[in-house]
Amino acid sequence: MRAMLLERPAPADARPLVPVDRPTTAPPAGELRLRVSACGVCRTDLQIVEGDLEARRLPVVPGHQVVGVVDAIGSDVEGWSNGDRAGVTWLAGTDGSCRFCTSGRENLCEAATFTGWDRDGGYAESMTVRADVAVPIPASYPDLAAAPLLCGGVIGYRSLGVAGIGATSAGARLGLYGFGASARQALQVARSWGVEVYAADRSAEARARALELGATWAGGLDELPPVALDAAVTFAPVGWVVASALRALDRGGTVAINAIHLDHVPELPYDDLWWERSIRSVANVTRQDAREFLEIAARIDLVTDTELFPLEEANEALARLAASRIRGTAVLTVG
Ligand SMILES: [Zn+2]
Ligand SMILES: [Zn+2]
Repeated sequence: MRAMLLERPAPADARPLVPVDRPTTAPPAGELRLRVSACGVCRTDLQIVEGDLEARRLPVVPGHQVVGVVDAIGSDVEGWSNGDRAGVTWLAGTDGSCRFCTSGRENLCEAATFTGWDRDGGYAESMTVRADVAVPIPASYPDLAAAPLLCGGVIGYRSLGVAGIGATSAGARLGLYGFGASARQALQVARSWGVEVYAADRSAEARARALELGATWAGGLDELPPVALDAAVTFAPVGWVVASALRALDRGGTVAINAIHLDHVPELPYDDLWWERSIRSVANVTRQDAREFLEIAARIDLVTDTELFPLEEANEALARLAASRIRGTAVLTVG
């Protein structure tokens, strides 16, 4: 099988992924083997490939937004059959036994492993995945449209919950700061709950897309929306954007930071935090987040914006992502 392998991290422009041909492996106990059909390209992949996130093992096949078809099943697997379509997310496994796992917070598991970082991911024609973390893909979604749901979509969905926004939040006012692929999906979920969305982005094109998708208002990242917000999610890995979102909150509001890295936490006037406002980070996802989000996506016919690249052009997709020249989510077409 063909795979794009990271042997040594380097800037995306240096084309660090190497095409290789490898034997497919039989799935071990508890795992599925997938014939990969599509894999989304995430900013986290870029951070691993370029070395901003230190490699946990090398060589490694990146990719953690994988859609494929089950073509072999290890022993001790229930609930999956050959031919089923399965999705793979960033969460590759947890220990299931620590105090976070046993209290419904497996996203905080200290022994968690991650797809395309601790184990080989989906920039390949074949991969294996733990059956208990694989996610069924709703029948209404073609493979290529489903791939962007599996990282940006799921984490965006989790961010809404962390910010206090859910199915009973009709009428609430939500700010989305940084209107990329993840925010586009979060907007559609929030609108389905009757939430008013206020979108902020530096790009006029992104602001126009937000209004098309149902935002009440779209403005710049440093602009105050016309009303005070009940909640905000920041997608830009930049501290001053968090400060800007906090300034826009009404009493009791929460800013959820959806970023693995933030350049710095700026000094904040306490008046902006007073009245029980809060700032929280969003770390990883649970398998429950993934299953809930995919069900909602199917129910509301959530639209994903994709730009397609053949598997062999994974380096090109990453270089374009590094240069902010991708609209929506880049997706590798594999099968
Ligand atoms: Zn990701
Ligand atoms: Zn755990």
